[in-house]
Amino acid sequence: SKQVILKHHVTGYPKESDMEFKNTTIKLNVPEGSNAVVLKNLYLSCDPYMRLRMSKLEGSYVASFTPASPITGYGVAKVLESGDSNFQKGDLVWGITGWEEYSIVTTTHTTLFKIHDKDVPLSYYTGILGMPGMTAYAGFYEVCSPKKGETVFVSAASGAVGQLVGQFAKMLGCYVVGSAGSKEKVDLLKSKFGFDEAFNYKEEQDLDTALKRYFPDGIDIYFENVGGKMLDAVLLNMKLHGRIAVCGMISQYNLEQTEGVHNLFCLITKRIRMEGFLVTEYYHLYPKYLEMIIPQIKSGKVVYVEDIAEGLESAPGALIGLFSGHNIGKQVVMVSHE
Ligand code: NDP
Repeated sequence: SKQVILKHHVTGYPKESDMEFKNTTIKLNVPEGSNAVVLKNLYLSCDPYMRLRMSKLEGSYVASFTPASPITGYGVAKVLESGDSNFQKGDLVWGITGWEEYSIVTTTHTTLFKIHDKDVPLSYYTGILGMPGMTAYAGFYEVCSPKKGETVFVSAASGAVGQLVGQFAKMLGCYVVGSAGSKEKVDLLKSKFGFDEAFNYKEEQDLDTALKRYFPDGIDIYFENVGGKMLDAVLLNMKLHGRIAVCGMISQYNLEQTEGVHNLFCLITKRIRMEGFLVTEYYHLYPKYLEMIIPQIKSGKVVYVEDIAEGLESAPGALIGLFSGHNIGKQVVMVSHE
């Protein structure tokens, strides 16, 4: 089985050379009752939080990757052998697996969901029907307390999570603006995902001025994906009793010293609620989310853009591409068609 190995813990921007390929032989059988399953990996998900796991971490909400071992992350896989009666040979699953052709995972130690609806692209279970989809759903509906007619701002808006937050906010009747890092992405936000307005944050001299252009009366809801300077500018433009759902802060993940945020006093003066959340605490809502989202996908009311890299060999490049905005939409790696 070919594997993607993390060579060492990483500081600063990750590089392809921080990873290497290895071939190993794995035994494709597991004893009954062992709670282990043998998986053939089909799609692997590239997610920003994986950068944190590449660092040497202490006391973090996630554990560091182990150097000289395969990277692990979300993926879609087929069960080849099962020692757990909840999974049968031939089942399709999504959850935490290895960056390798075949993995053996212990079902008691990992999040593994059985895939029931196969009438949609399987890769969607790394995105809209997987962890990022649940992040957009829980983050927007559960954390933002959104109401019809409110003004919503989304950063990293064309990404795996952001493109859905924008569409959910439009479905509810909000005014939605997104920021992204290229003209192509800005166009996509308006033409494909239905954002009312969008701008390229890299081309703005001053983010405060840009936000005032699109939100002359202020922002009710900020769905935070990037942190740093953007958060500072948003704080100045929030309305009274606004809400900030802190989903991620990708602009900070490669910095040795995180940037200070200067305008936090706005939380007091404007009585803003700023709340961080982790998608893993909301997985109990997954069946409810599927019930809502699958019909929306099938009717074309909600669309999803993916960026699919072909082959395990492309995985290191695809992962580091997240930090330069190389991906357009959800970054997936296709390892094998079934
Ligand atoms: P994306 O698909 O949006 O990919 C990352 C994007 O971030 C890039 O394409 C790039 O787009 C943008 N970006 C990269 N570097 C910077 C930077 N320095 N400043 C501004 N933007 C940058 O990723 P996801 O949708 O999967 O994740 C979005 C956020 O949500 C991340 O912060 C992630 O950590 C967080 N997250 C949190 C979860 C939770 O449970 N709280 C769960 C899942 C995700 P561009 O070209 O626009 O710059």
